[in-house]
Amino acid sequence: MNLHEYQGKEILNSFGVRIQRGIVAQTPEEAVTAAKELTEQTGTGWYVVKAQVHAGGRGKGGGVKLAKNLEEVKTISDSILGMMLVTPQTSAEGKLVNQVLIAEDVYYPGDSEPEEFYISVLLNRATGRNMVMYSTEGGMDIETVAEETPHLIFTEEIDPTLGILPFQARKIAFNLGLKGNALKEMTKFVTALYTAYDKSDASMFEINPVLKTSDDKILAVDAKVTLDENALYRHKDYVALRDIREENPIEVEAKAAGLNYVDLDGNVGCMVNGAGLAMGTMDLIKQAGGDPANFLDVGGTADAKRVETAFRIILKDSNVKAILVNIFGGIVRCDRVAQGVVDAYTNMGDAIKVPIIVRLQGTNAAEAKELIDNSGMKIISATEFQEAADKVQEVLS
Ligand code: GDP
Ligand code: MN
Repeated sequence: MNLHEYQGKEILNSFGVRIQRGIVAQTPEEAVTAAKELTEQTGTGWYVVKAQVHAGGRGKGGGVKLAKNLEEVKTISDSILGMMLVTPQTSAEGKLVNQVLIAEDVYYPGDSEPEEFYISVLLNRATGRNMVMYSTEGGMDIETVAEETPHLIFTEEIDPTLGILPFQARKIAFNLGLKGNALKEMTKFVTALYTAYDKSDASMFEINPVLKTSDDKILAVDAKVTLDENALYRHKDYVALRDIREENPIEVEAKAAGLNYVDLDGNVGCMVNGAGLAMGTMDLIKQAGGDPANFLDVGGTADAKRVETAFRIILKDSNVKAILVNIFGGIVRCDRVAQGVVDAYTNMGDAIKVPIIVRLQGTNAAEAKELIDNSGMKIISATEFQEAADKVQEVLS
C-alpha cells in the first residue's frame, strides 16, 4: 500500500526522524489557514506547496512550488489543487491533485551550501535482507544516478536479528562525506529511519532529498513510503491511510469482491484459480504470442456467482479481446465450475462480446467439457494447456 508524502512524514516523525514539517489542505482557504498555523509552529515565513499524489517527480511536473507569503500560498494552492499533474512517473493524462501539503521552507534564503542526499530502506530480494541504499546525489531521480554514475550509489545490508548497528549508521554518514556535528546528526537520522521502516512493516522508505542545512540539521524533505499490506492487521491505525482515489478502480472493486486482481497492459483476460496456475497461464499466453490483460486468482470457490463477478471485472478493461478461463478442479468439481461459467454467461446476456476459451482439468473434467460443448453458447473448450493458449491466439488473429 502506497502512502502520500504527508502520511509517510507523519510515520517518520512518530519514530523520531526529523522532517520538513507541514500541514495538509484540501482547499486554497485551508491552505492559508495551514500556512498560518505552520508559522506559529515553526516560525517560517516562506512555504512550499506540494501536490499530494502517489507519484514521484512532482517537482519536475510543476507540483512543488515555493510561496513567499500567504497570498502566494492561496494562488499557488488554487492552481495546483484540481490539476492533472503529469510527472515522469504518471501516465500521459496525469493524476488528479486532491490535496496539497503546505510545508515549511527549509532551504534557508542565504544558505549557501544546502546539501541533498538520497537515502532509502528496502528489501534486497537477492539476499533476503533489508538494506539501506544511499547516495550523495540527492534530489535527482535515482534511476538516472544508477544509469549514469552507479559508483555513487552505496548499499548497507542490515542483519534482521541485530537491526542497524551504530558502526553501520556512522559508516553511511561518513560515506556521505559528513563530519563533526552533521555526521552525528546523520547517524541518528539513519538509525531512526531504519527503525521506522522495520517497526511499521514497510517494504520501502525512500527519502529524496534528505537535506543537510548549513547549521547541520538533517531532515527528510520528501517521503515515499510503501507499507506491506499483509502486515496491516498489526497496524490498525495505518489502515485508514489508504487513499483509494489513487488506486486503479478495477483493482479496488476486485479487492472488495475478494478477488486477487492485478491490471496489466495486454488483451487476453485471464480467470484462474490459484496464484501459481495464474502465473503459469500468463506465461503460456505470452509464449503463444499473446499478452495477458490481467492477473486474476478467483480462489478456491469458483461458483457461478464468483465466476460472474470475475467476468464483469475482467470486462471493465476495454482492452480485453478474449478471455481464457483456466481452472483446476481439485477441491472444486470441474462440472460445477462449467455450470458456473454457463450460468454467468446466461445471466450476463449481451455483456460478453468477446470469445471465451475454457480449460477445465481435474475432477469430472470430461463432464465439464461436455457441459460446455452442449451449452449452445459461444464458449470454446480446450483440454490441454497449450491447446487453450493456441485457441486464444486463433480467435485473436
Ligand atoms: P518530488 O519532485 O516528487 O520528488 O518532490 P520533492 O518533495 O522531492 O520536492 C522536489 C524538489 O522541491 C526538491 O528536490 C527540492 O529541490 C524542492 N523543495 C522541496 N522543499 C523545498 C523547500 O522547503 N524550499 C525550497 N526552496 N525548495 C524545496
Ligand atoms: Mn523527491
